Amino acid sequence: MDFIDLHIHLQDYEENFATDIVKKAQKFGLKKMICAATSPKDWDKVAAFAQNFPDLIVPAFGVHPWHVAGISEQWQNLLKSYLKAFPHALVGETGLDGLKPDFDLQQNLFSAQLKLAREFKRPIIIHSVKAVGSMPDFWHLMPAKFMIHSFNGRAEHLHDILSHGGYISFSASILKNRDIEKIVKTVPLNKILLESDGPYQAPNKGELSSPFFIPEILQHFASILRADIEELSRQIYQNSLEFIND
Ligand SMILES: [Zn+2]
Repeated sequence: MDFIDLHIHLQDYEENFATDIVKKAQKFGLKKMICAATSPKDWDKVAAFAQNFPDLIVPAFGVHPWHVAGISEQWQNLLKSYLKAFPHALVGETGLDGLKPDFDLQQNLFSAQLKLAREFKRPIIIHSVKAVGSMPDFWHLMPAKFMIHSFNGRAEHLHDILSHGGYISFSASILKNRDIEKIVKTVPLNKILLESDGPYQAPNKGELSSPFFIPEILQHFASILRADIEELSRQIYQNSLEFIND
């Protein structure tokens, strides 16, 4: 079974752990990983992963809503230079987090990154936590492809995202959502993506997440949907390629 990890922070693992994931990838059918940066401070590291493993790692460059404070004035020019240097790079991780400070600044940076994604015709990876009320201000800025990463909200929040053409990406965190059945059944099959969000969002407390948990999520989804797991995995693999413009 081939699969793609739509969201991982390889730069946040201990170095040997990250190399281990890369080494094991082939054996487990992991064909690609989208390695998401979170601030100008880690763009270099993400770029290095993409350069060292060009067939496996697709980089994403952006400013996470947790890292907006004290951002340098040059961040936009720098981001443009990374997007130019990596023509297949995505924009992200960006977004909004109502549990974190500087919400005005978060919104400014989010809209600037949405504009860049449109200008450079790149898909964008969105972190959205306690921000449902603010998203309507941004729908008109969305690029052709966007995904809400590690969705773990309520089923009724999906309709707005889906009606604007968004993809929904799930990490193991969804397995603990009381609404999981309703959520999985609400998302059209061609809009489902899967991710590890490694090293975060492990299925069990105290563990590090890794892409190798993704088949476990897939298995849960297949049983909820009463779908053939091979067929579902092929569909999600196809969605992933479409999302990253591959
Ligand atoms: Zn993340």
